[in-house]
Amino acid sequence: MKFKRTIRYEGELDRSLYYYMLSLPEGEGIIRCIQCGTCSGVCPLSIYMDFTPRKLIALVREGFSMDVLSSFTIWLCSSCYACTVSCPQEIKITEIMYALKRKAIEEGVYPRRFPVPVLAREFFQMVLRNGRSSESLLVLNLILKTNISKALSYVPLGLKLLKTRRLSLKKERTPGASEVKAILEGLKEGGP
Ligand code: SF4
Ligand code: SF4
Repeated sequence: MKFKRTIRYEGELDRSLYYYMLSLPEGEGIIRCIQCGTCSGVCPLSIYMDFTPRKLIALVREGFSMDVLSSFTIWLCSSCYACTVSCPQEIKITEIMYALKRKAIEEGVYPRRFPVPVLAREFFQMVLRNGRSSESLLVLNLILKTNISKALSYVPLGLKLLKTRRLSLKKERTPGASEVKAILEGLKEGGP
C-alpha cells in the first residue's frame, strides 16, 4: 500500500487501511464503533497521544491512513487493555493498536527517531536471527539508530555496568534458533 501523506481533498482519502483492518479477526469490529469515546476516557495515556483511541478509529474508517500509521498514538499504547474491556461494542482496540503497529513497520512510516518502533523492529530481527534477544546489544542498537549524538554520554554508565557484570556484550543464541525462525517466518507468510 502507498498512502498519501497530506490529505487536502476528499478524493485523496484512501480507505485501503480500513478494508485491511476489516479483513483481520481483531480488526473487523472497527465497523461497529459508535464513537462514544469510552475508550479515550479510560485510556491512561490518551492525554499524551496525538489522536485519542476514538479519534484514531474514526481516522482509519474515513481513510486518513497515513495520519494513523505515522501517529505517535499506536506507539504510546501500553497494552493495558482498559479500552478493550470498557468498549460497549466489544471492539478489540488493543489488538487493533498492535495490528496498526505491525502495518506501520511493514510500510516503514512510523515516526522517525521515535525509539519504540525501532525497538520493536530490532527486537524482532534479533529474535529472528538468534532465537532470543541480547538486551545489551538491543539497547546499543537502539541508541545508535535513534539517538547517536547521545551515544557517548552512555559510555561511563556502560563501563560501570560491564565492570560489575551487570551487562554483557556477548551475543546470546538459543539452541532452537532455527525453529524459532521457522515459526516467525511462517507467521509472516501466513498472516498479519
Ligand atoms: S469505546 Fe468502542 S464504541 Fe466507543 S469510541 Fe471506543 S471503540 Fe468506539
Ligand atoms: S490498551 Fe492502549 S489505547 Fe487502550 S487504554 Fe490502554 S494504553 Fe490506551
